[in-house]
Amino acid sequence: MSAVDLAALASRLPARPLTRFAPSPTGYLHLGHVANAVWVWGLARALDGRVLLRLEDHDRGRCRREYEAALLDDLDWLGLEPDVGAPRELRVGRSPYRQQDSGPAYEAALATLEQRTTLFACSCSRKELARAEGGDVLNEETRYPGTCRSRGLGSSGLGLRLRVEPGVERFVDARLGAQAQEPSAQCGDLLLRDRQGQWTYQFAVVVDDLRHEVDLVVRGEDLLGSTGRQVLLGRLLGRAEPPVFLHHPLIRKAGGEKLSKAAGDTGIRELRVAGVSPAETLGRAAFLTGLLPRPQPLGVGDLAKLFGAG
Ligand SMILES: [Zn+2]
Repeated sequence: MSAVDLAALASRLPARPLTRFAPSPTGYLHLGHVANAVWVWGLARALDGRVLLRLEDHDRGRCRREYEAALLDDLDWLGLEPDVGAPRELRVGRSPYRQQDSGPAYEAALATLEQRTTLFACSCSRKELARAEGGDVLNEETRYPGTCRSRGLGSSGLGLRLRVEPGVERFVDARLGAQAQEPSAQCGDLLLRDRQGQWTYQFAVVVDDLRHEVDLVVRGEDLLGSTGRQVLLGRLLGRAEPPVFLHHPLIRKAGGEKLSKAAGDTGIRELRVAGVSPAETLGRAAFLTGLLPRPQPLGVGDLAKLFGAG
């Protein structure tokens, strides 16, 4: 039943890795998350590794405890148990596996960057940056044009950016092979903290992967373009070797069309109400991400078999 030749990937994957499942509690769990979880848990179990659960709740405006509770409940229903950062560790006091509780770690990382690199305050709003690029909407791939680089602004109440020098970042994706990216051309100077004082996703995630000693990052292909800047940021923070990255296919409808959360195609809550079982849900997600030739029930204990183990 193995759809992925683990033997072919094995030379690129760490032995007994620590990998992570890191959802943002900004909505309910859907099949896209479960597809990622199937890769994460499947590879961890096949390689005799461990899964860390991290709640990426850095965006205080969009995260809700209600989503978090639902997310943990859905993981429990699916039988997906983390080895590190288990739900009880997330609930007791301040948890290093919850980004909102990890401010001191980000402050310390920022102090490191201040010593080793050039940071500067940035007063640009998202709207101004989008306009500078000739558009109305700022997306992840809008390049920062360097507006505030030499303005010498005080940092209070402003965003904080890392000056990104020209250069190519090379890394090997375990599935897709050698990659070369140029963060200075793609995104320009990296925003570490926004004008509301919130840590950005790219910064928080790199600090977390470093301090949690994650050595295998398994995520969707849509995020491949931002991996070079994470490799760069990790190195500047003192990471000797980047984690191994594996980017997997995103889930698609039979016709190749992208599944839509809004259309209610994929919500785990809806599937549960409709009487779909955990094994059917895992099997459906595995099929949609190319790990099974057809949808069929798949127990948690069988996930490693998708990668040729057991
Ligand atoms: Zn600026």
